Amino acid sequence: MEQYDSLLAAVAAPEGAGREVFDPATGELIGRAPVGTVADLDAAIQAAVAAQPDWAAAGDEARRAALHRMADAVEAHAEPLAELLSREQGKPLNGPNARFEVGACATWLRVTADTPLPTEVVVDDGTDYAELHYRPVGTVGVITPWNWPMMIAIWQIAPALRMGNTVVAKPSEYTTLSGLALVEVLNAELPAGVLNVVAGDGAIGAELVARPEFGKIMFTGSTATGKKIIEASAGNVTRLTLELGGNDAGIVLPDVDPAAIAEDLFWGAFINTGQTCAAMKRLYVHDDVYDAVCEALVDVAAKMPMGTGLDEQNVLGPLQNRMQFGVVDRLVEAAKASGARVLTGGEPDREQLGNFYPTTLVADIDPHNPLVVEEQFGPALPIIRYSDVDEAVRLANELSVGLGASVWSADRDRARGIAARIQAGTVWINSHGGVHPMIPFGGVKQSGYGMEFGVEGLKSVSVPQVVNG
Ligand code: NAD
Repeated sequence: MEQYDSLLAAVAAPEGAGREVFDPATGELIGRAPVGTVADLDAAIQAAVAAQPDWAAAGDEARRAALHRMADAVEAHAEPLAELLSREQGKPLNGPNARFEVGACATWLRVTADTPLPTEVVVDDGTDYAELHYRPVGTVGVITPWNWPMMIAIWQIAPALRMGNTVVAKPSEYTTLSGLALVEVLNAELPAGVLNVVAGDGAIGAELVARPEFGKIMFTGSTATGKKIIEASAGNVTRLTLELGGNDAGIVLPDVDPAAIAEDLFWGAFINTGQTCAAMKRLYVHDDVYDAVCEALVDVAAKMPMGTGLDEQNVLGPLQNRMQFGVVDRLVEAAKASGARVLTGGEPDREQLGNFYPTTLVADIDPHNPLVVEEQFGPALPIIRYSDVDEAVRLANELSVGLGASVWSADRDRARGIAARIQAGTVWINSHGGVHPMIPFGGVKQSGYGMEFGVEGLKSVSVPQVVNG
């Protein structure tokens, strides 16, 4: 508790300044978040640009050691970081939630520190000799969303620093304190100016992406904002990695054992209470197993407690903000009005102080219902019946986004054959949504471009340079 209080005090705005932050589970005031200005952004950019040559010159061994020290620091502050994340974002401490997210930050830092650099000899034939190197881009802008506010920030910050860049990070205005607290912990291990953070909303983000000092913008957020960033950065031809929205399909083949896969299906959809870019958001189930899969999912849902994040028994939390509650509510109401069958959930308390939306499973729904085709980003899963797998693949591919997808079958080869026909950056087989620091991750179509993690992630925050001769 003491550590939590001092971490919060180190990053919060003083009484009377900034903006009030409320716990999404209770509506209780937890503190005040600073509101950044253009002057703050200017100062952060100046510091980052000034620190970059020395950071690049420090060499890879020094930077690797710094990443390991940052991982140690995250581990040493794991509980207060998780508590702040839980109070501000809403996710429970327990389950694949706040502690899991903080643990993933340390893992990503360590693996990024130990990933081999991508330098390679491209030609060495006795006549010609050329090497391809990856050099720092300079200063990297990191703009992140509110759903996994620490882990997604680390996904960008760790490779950017490893490759000799300095960083200006802008956390989401919905999870400012979590973003600032993470940087506070990391900065104790870094020279001044290497990692900078500026609080602020979309207007500060828009200002940032238009600045010529950035060699690269790493953006994670909605497709709508991604499109604005493409336009705003065009004048400087700034390099972009865009990790945008998704609406992942899961396809269940008739040969599965419904009871055996139900828990993995559930977490594929409901991790972080559905507020996950690569969560399963529409599930296509073959007619032969449709009723059994629905029943098994209802049974699992009944065993997963939802409630305030600090209560250790809960594994599902509230929605982070009222806007998202409104989106989920509107889409589930549209499904109900269309005659779809609600198997569980679907009746939120709209007068509560928190943002809890109950775990909701919706069956016998039209494949073009808004709950299926829009990104609802919450704890609701439409389950669509199919009888011909080609039709399921066609439906999976018909949307404009393509982040993840999954195929569930006892026959791995058959599932892999279907995976090859799905338009998505990742297709999981018999699981959904798991990420690994060495397995590249990114979207296709309007889910964005560029890949993170592993060697691909290091390349994405570098500029290629050929040394020929
Ligand atoms: P958002 O696009 O509203 O905001 C994301 C960030 O962009 C915030 O920091 C925000 O302040 C900033 N921003 C807003 N307008 C901006 C502008 N014009 N220029 C620059 N920055 C601007 O997204 P959100 O609601 O915070 O997050 C949810 C979305 O993020 C969902 O669509 C989800 O699928 C997506 N997401 C994608 C991934 C992925 O890896 N593909 C991961 C997590 C979330």
